[in-house]
Amino acid sequence: MSSTKTIGIIGGGQLGQMMAISAIYMGHKVITLDPASDCPSSRVSEVIAAPYDDVDALRQLADHCDVLTYEFENVDADGLDAVIKDGQLPQGTELLRISQNRIFEKDFLSNKAQVTVAPYKVVTSSLDLEDIDLSKNYVLKTATGGYDGHGQKVITSAEDLEEANALANSAECVLEEFVNFDLEISVIVSGNGKDVTVFPVQENIHRNNILSKTIVPARISDRLADRAKAIAVKIAEQLNLSGTLCVEMFATADDIIVNEIAPRPHNSGHYSIEACDFSQFDTHILGVFGAPLPAINLHEPAVMLNVLGQHVEAAERYVTENPSAHLHMYGKLEAKHNRKMGHVTLFSNEPDNVVEFGKGIDF
Ligand code: AMP
Repeated sequence: MSSTKTIGIIGGGQLGQMMAISAIYMGHKVITLDPASDCPSSRVSEVIAAPYDDVDALRQLADHCDVLTYEFENVDADGLDAVIKDGQLPQGTELLRISQNRIFEKDFLSNKAQVTVAPYKVVTSSLDLEDIDLSKNYVLKTATGGYDGHGQKVITSAEDLEEANALANSAECVLEEFVNFDLEISVIVSGNGKDVTVFPVQENIHRNNILSKTIVPARISDRLADRAKAIAVKIAEQLNLSGTLCVEMFATADDIIVNEIAPRPHNSGHYSIEACDFSQFDTHILGVFGAPLPAINLHEPAVMLNVLGQHVEAAERYVTENPSAHLHMYGKLEAKHNRKMGHVTLFSNEPDNVVEFGKGIDF
């Protein structure tokens, strides 16, 4: 039997493109479903150009592929359930449903996986905000549809309540206590349905709620790093994970608090392409095919810088001056402001000396 398979990827952005590249060098064929025929994955795969909720297009993809996966969590889970054959989506649609809705996600994390999350409550209208204790700070987040800080309101005083009430009356929300964290960190973990493998802990620096810089290993104690990895493994095991998952967390002085999960490779794991012996995309492909997973080694401390639309020229200049830095460009045709166009990975023991693109100028 041939080991060459056809994999269908829902979403042809940079994550889908980098998954496809891993799949291709393992000998597989890739078909992508994306609304844009010139999406980043079009450089490396066939594309079915159709909306993500087009059930006929999903069926066409399923009919032509041995295995399906997705590059983002807002995939139509019901549509997928209607077309997939048994075992064709190893990640399953349950994980999609959990990560699409913060209420399900918090319930899963705290009650099923039993990991620490910020104290929270479900908010169905502004009435649920009437008796909150304003000696504490909070973040109110819509249950669905939020990303990169959209659909969120920080509450630090009674003055924030007008906007918070409006948000609470517009959509179901989760009210979380504000965590006074030292660092934001994340851990990539991959599973093959039986076993898991875990990556080093990443330290993440955001600008305007968009990831700007990832430093690996994160500058936390070994004890906290081990704890963060153990939490990621616990979540993966609870899910019988297939493929790659990212667990985003807050590190405080003496604890790790889970913020959210992304059931796919993640921007904060891009450094693994050069800095680890297998990338988060390699283990994703191996995992969804149920193949044995390697232990992950970090070759050297690394830094990843995101290249947004306004940073493209600076990044190109940077690699001319620092030719040992690895520039990845995703092949997006239009360099819009804040659009993720590429990233740069370099090895460095002095992450503070690696300056983010546009820092102090145009974030
Ligand atoms: P999220 O969409 O949940 O990833 O939140 C976006 C950003 O808001 C995070 O990266 C944090 O910087 C911040 N944030 C989210 N939740 C909290 C919280 N409970 N306490 C403090 N900061 C938070």
